Parts: sequence; C-alpha cells; structure tokens
Amino acid sequence: RENSVWTQDRVIKSPFKDVEIPNLTLYDYVWQNLDRWPERTASVCAETGRGYTYEQAFKLSNRFAANLRTKFKICDGDSVAVMLPNIPDYPLVALGILAAGGVITSINPNYTAHEVQRQLKMSEAKAIVTLPETVPVIRESLNIAKINIPIIAVKRNDNPVPEGIALFNELSEDIHTDNSVLKQVRRQTNDICFLPYSSGTTGLPKGVELSHRNIIANCEQINDPIVAMHNETTSTHQDSVMGVLPFFHIYAATVLMFHKFSIGAKLVALPKFQPETFLKTIEKHKTNILMVAPPLILLMGSHSAATEKTFEHVKSVCNGAAPLAASDVERFLQTAKHEIDFRQGYGLTETSPTVTIGPKGSKQHATTGPPVGSTELRIVDINLKNLGPNETGEILVRGPQVMRGYRDNPQANKEAFTEDGWFRTGDLAVADENGIITIADRLKELIKVKGFQVPPAELESLLREHPSVNDAAVIGVPHQSKGEAPKAFVVLKDGHKCTERQLSEFVNSKVATYKHVDDITFVDSIPKSAAGKILRRVLKDQYC
Ligand code: ATP
Ligand code: MG
Repeated sequence: RENSVWTQDRVIKSPFKDVEIPNLTLYDYVWQNLDRWPERTASVCAETGRGYTYEQAFKLSNRFAANLRTKFKICDGDSVAVMLPNIPDYPLVALGILAAGGVITSINPNYTAHEVQRQLKMSEAKAIVTLPETVPVIRESLNIAKINIPIIAVKRNDNPVPEGIALFNELSEDIHTDNSVLKQVRRQTNDICFLPYSSGTTGLPKGVELSHRNIIANCEQINDPIVAMHNETTSTHQDSVMGVLPFFHIYAATVLMFHKFSIGAKLVALPKFQPETFLKTIEKHKTNILMVAPPLILLMGSHSAATEKTFEHVKSVCNGAAPLAASDVERFLQTAKHEIDFRQGYGLTETSPTVTIGPKGSKQHATTGPPVGSTELRIVDINLKNLGPNETGEILVRGPQVMRGYRDNPQANKEAFTEDGWFRTGDLAVADENGIITIADRLKELIKVKGFQVPPAELESLLREHPSVNDAAVIGVPHQSKGEAPKAFVVLKDGHKCTERQLSEFVNSKVATYKHVDDITFVDSIPKSAAGKILRRVLKDQYC
C-alpha cells in the first residue's frame, strides 16, 4: 500500500512515535515534576474560589494517604470508593488513595442507594469518600448491601456533617500524621490502580480494571507533540483547563485530573453544571483548553449567553464520548469567531480512555483522527475478517492502554477480546487511506430496516441541522413491514414552531429511502448520561 499506516494485513498502525512508558506507579508519575511548579494553582472551585497549590495538594493528599493506612487500615490493593462531584479536593482524594497503595473506584455522585450498593459490593470497597450531603444515600446503600465500611466526608462549606463521619479535611491537615507508613506501600506499575465502571449506556455498568501502566501509557500517548493540546508550564505560562466533565468518568479522570496534574496545569472544578455558570467560568478563568462532550458543544453553539467574549482565551477544544457531526462543530466555531484548534478524540473506559485523536490543526472536524502512539487498530466484518480503507466495520484495538479485563465478569471478558488478544470496542467505524477514523455509532444501537443498517447518530445530526431543532435522539422501533424503523425524539428551540411533517421532509430529502424518519415525537429534553451520551435505552423503555 502507498500509505504506511495500513499494513499488508490491513492493520492500522499509529502514524506517531511509539511511546516510552516509564516504569512507575501513577502516583509517582503524576508528581514527578512537582518541584517545577509548587506555587502554581493545582485545582480551584469555579463556584467558591476554594483551591490548592501543587505543593499543598501533594502534602495534603499524602497525609490523607498515611491516615487511610493507619486509621482506616487500607492495605495495598484495597479499593476505596470516591463518590464526589467535581470539587477541587477530588484529585487530592484520588492521589491520596493511590499513595496509600489503594485502588480508586469512582462512583457517579448522582447514583441512587441501589446503584451505589452494587458498585460497593462488586468493587469490595473498604471505605468511601463523599460529601456530607450524600451520607444518607450511602448509609442506605450499606444497609441494602448489608455491609459496613467507614464513610469519610469532604467538608466544603458550613453544611452540617452527620455524626460519626470522619473528615477528609481533618485527616489531610493533621500535622501529627506519621507519613513514614507510606514507605511500606508496595505497588508495581502493572498492578490495578483504578476501577471505574463503564457508563452503562448499553447495559449494567461493568467494572474496568486499569493498571498504573495503562493510564501512564495513555498520558504519554496524548503528550505526543503532534496531538498534544497543552502547553508547557513555565514561569510565565500555565494552562487553565475547564473541569466540567465528571471526574468520576474515565475521560475526565485521565485527561483532566491525572494528565493535567502531571503537566502542572490549573484545573478549574465545576461542582454543579449550569449553563450560565459554565460559560461564565470559561471567561473568568481564561480557559484555554476545553475538554467537552457533544451536549456542551451544542450548548456553546446555541446558548444566548455564549458569545465571542466567552471564548476569548480558548485555544484548543477536544470533543469525545459520543458522536458529533461537523455541522454541530461549525455552529460553535462560528460563535467563538476566532481560530480554535478543534479536535475529536475517541475512547472507552476500557482503553484508559484515548484510542484515537485528531492531530494539531486538523480541519476534519467529524473525524476522530488516527490511533495514538503504540496503538494498532483493525476494522473488521462480523466474521472478524479485516476490512480495508473506506469500509465500515467494528473497530478493534491493541495497545498499552487497553484494560486487563472486567472485574469478576468472565462472560464479558470472553466477548470483549478476540482469541489473539484484540479488544472489541462494539463501535462501528470507517478508516480512510491515512488511518483517520470516523465513528458511525454503536453496533448494538444500529437500526435494522429491511436488512439495511441505519446508524441513529447520522439521523440525529441531520435533524440538528434544521434551524428550529435544538436537540434530537433516534431509536429503532418494531415495524410491521420493515422489521424496524427509526423513531425520532426532537427538542425544538425556544419560540420556534415546526411540524413533524416538515422535519420528516427535511431529513428524508437528504437520505436514502430506507433511512427515512416518518415517526417524530416532540419532547422537552433528551435523556443523557453525565458524560454526555444519549441514553437511547431510556427512550426505548419509555416509548416502546
Ligand atoms: P457501557 O459500555 O456500560 O454500555 P459506554 O460504552 O457508554 O457504557 P464509556 O466507556 O463511557 O461507556 O463510553 C465509550 C463509548 O463512547 C464508545 O464505545 C463509543 O460508543 C462512545 N464514544 C467515545 N468517544 C466517541 C467519539 N469521539 N465519537 C463517537 N462515539 C464516541
Ligand atoms: Mg461500552
């Protein structure tokens, strides 16, 4: 083949340099350059201005770690759950757990007691860190699970703390702490350090075992000069990064917390999402790097409070987590008005998360770029036979960022890996001659109309191109003669009027007959996960 990224066997190699993965724990990796920026702000709360310098973050998280070992008997390899919103203390808690030799298992702070108990049981958490406000939910979850583990709360205001709860603040500030116990920690780079749960978009969330090496590899992969979004922290410059994506999810955990701490950036934590606060924070903190998911791109391109001034300092924007069309990106870029380096990344919890990312200056906004360094891809048909350029199939991954496996889930592990060790993403994608990937949709969510496959994301992006449409979601519903047919849920823009028929005609004029959308329902909002994915499963439960 002409282009070197495709091998003779139709494997896509990374066009970037192989990464060198230092033989460290994630904890040592993150702090290795601390002495270059001790006085810089590490994390700060967008609402209250409460925050930490790098030196404080290091000291406090270490003391917390020592107390986890002595007072809470956390041993090497024990899981400690973190159920917190995006607060500036989150990275300190997470790094503290690692320093103590523990494994972080991050829980969605909006989970119900029932959902929490499932993860606490499955991860065998030995303690849980949360907010005072969430203690009742956790107590209820412990009752359901019939387990008893200590609860540690992070106090961030004058709200009362329920009785019998230890405080992160006291544990981390106690100057009598004996840090020498941390010398007993024995962790290797191949040990598990992070146990997040997949988003549960397609079924129940699965526990994903990630090693120190997995996450360090992924940090190094996004450090490649051709894909890197950050700038070096120096005496005159520090990147300001918007922490709006939930820290409990792999995208923000690796790309915002661990990676940004390793390069000395300022992480601005937004505890409660509100469009106006989000936009104001970008302006106030002179955000220059924005990591987002599709709902935020849509918002930044359409909200009345989003202006040229809001994005004045923004230089790089990365989208990930769910499909996004070029037209969605254009609307945002038009609002911002100045030159912005916009790129998409593609990844999964199982891959720490980054698999592909657009190179600097790429104008192919709908693509997610080629594989990152040391990463190989295959695009395969249903028989796992390799396909070539411009052929659509399932995308498989091999690389140092791929998880060891799912926790206690042999069935899922069997389905997730091919016999020769390739990870099956379950996503449908196409690669061009240069190995540039475009994600179509999830295999499981394709709509099968008379034997043809229709990716709902394609119809959703067409619907969003209509001037009166604010948002849209498409699912497959049973149909008498076609087997299945697309059904759309549409949110109209405030003050706009439009009929179902007009929308159908708008979409149907642009697609082949089998993709026609003749069933449209207007709704007030589209159900989405915290990480920004459309929950088509919820729509199916509600309407089918
Ligand atoms: P579960 O596996 O529990 O059903 P999930 O797959 O949503 O949940 P995550 O690991 O958070 O959990 O998400 C990974 C998925 O997100 C990918 O498989 C892919 O479908 C989607 N995704 C990620 N990045 C992109 C992107 N840039 N474009 C399109 N889809 C993306
Ligand atoms: Mg998944």
